[in-house]
Amino acid sequence: MFNDVGKKIKTLATVFFIFILIFAIIIAIVELILLRSVPLLWLIVLISIAFAVFCGWISYALLYGYGELIDSSRKLADNTSLLLKTFSATSPSIASKISTKSGKTTGNSDAAWVCEYCGYENPMITSFCRNCQKSRY
Ligand SMILES: [Zn+2]
Repeated sequence: MFNDVGKKIKTLATVFFIFILIFAIIIAIVELILLRSVPLLWLIVLISIAFAVFCGWISYALLYGYGELIDSSRKLADNTSLLLKTFSATSPSIASKISTKSGKTTGNSDAAWVCEYCGYENPMITSFCRNCQKSRY
């Protein structure tokens, strides 16, 4: 369920923004036809549409940025655990010190992982603790 949540948020942000753009264009065209005879009202509505698109763009940027953040922190966590695995092959004593500090997320990939917040044992397929809902990384 939480797999690739960053990617999903980014897709959602893009779809949402495209939807706003299409909607704004339709409104603008309809408005152009209906309010041609009232220039002042026409201008006000057009400014409102422009403002709505601007707000849409801001939320798009924020949402996309948030998705990117989740994505990159996941990559970072994956790389860190990969690094630790490589490291434990060459120098086990140092690696074991690091892996105990960062929680039991490394090592055997078939084993359960223990939540560092509440100590609950979760299956490897979950990214969030089933007991306290905190992130694995
Ligand atoms: Zn927990």
